Amino acid sequence: MRYHRIPDETIRRLPIYLRGLLFSKYLGQQSISSRDLADFVGVNSAQIRKDFSYFGDFGTRGVGYRIEKLTKQIKRILKLDVIQKAALVGVGNLGSAILAYPGFGMYGFDIAAAFDINPKKIGRKIKLPAKRGPGCSIVIENASKLPTLKKRGINLAIVAVPQDAAQQVASALVKAGVKGILNFSPCYITVPKKVKVITIDIAMDLARLPYYMPAS
Ligand code: NAD
Repeated sequence: MRYHRIPDETIRRLPIYLRGLLFSKYLGQQSISSRDLADFVGVNSAQIRKDFSYFGDFGTRGVGYRIEKLTKQIKRILKLDVIQKAALVGVGNLGSAILAYPGFGMYGFDIAAAFDINPKKIGRKIKLPAKRGPGCSIVIENASKLPTLKKRGINLAIVAVPQDAAQQVASALVKAGVKGILNFSPCYITVPKKVKVITIDIAMDLARLPYYMPAS
């Protein structure tokens, strides 16, 4: 089922709710009130109820939200109810840190391939965090192998290459059938409309912070 009418702002908050629900489950809870979830994720409870109202009513008065059911529903909306295979392009400082991060698995992500152009890195085996599943290692491949992504069922990619290589890498990914790109290079990349790009620039977020800080 597709949910066309859910506003982007709600979609932006769904992963935050999901993180709260997964953590509550980890703590052994089976249900959570909208107020507790609000405290947990830093969003007010009226906002949570409004957001959830877009895709049904999962709360029961006096009991709150059933964690299992709501988790499943949010995962389904975000299309995280199936394993999403992702490729990493650029295994430098940031790319290596991404490979070492164990937190992707709980959202259904599997970084199934890693690419670079540095001959010293190509062929190197990288140990993955234990939570990543069987094998727990990945071999860095030559970026010239990007066209193999389609037949390997990988249609999502993380780009962690220098700024001047980002557009060329993005274009190669699009050609390889990739439909979603998480771009860490600090630049705007252009792709066809059918491809979704989310750019994360830590420096940009940091650059907003002093404006909101109280004068000392
Ligand atoms: P890095 O130089 O350590 O790593 C970049 C890697 O990309 C290298 O291994 C390089 O060989 C590879 N590469 C270059 N061209 C390529 C291509 N065409 N195809 C495949 N691989 C290619 O850089 P980094 O510090 O890991 O940063 C990566 C990107 O992320 C940069 O754009 C940087 O501005 C951005 N970024 C970095 C940080 C950080 O904390 N390091 C934080 C935010 C954003």
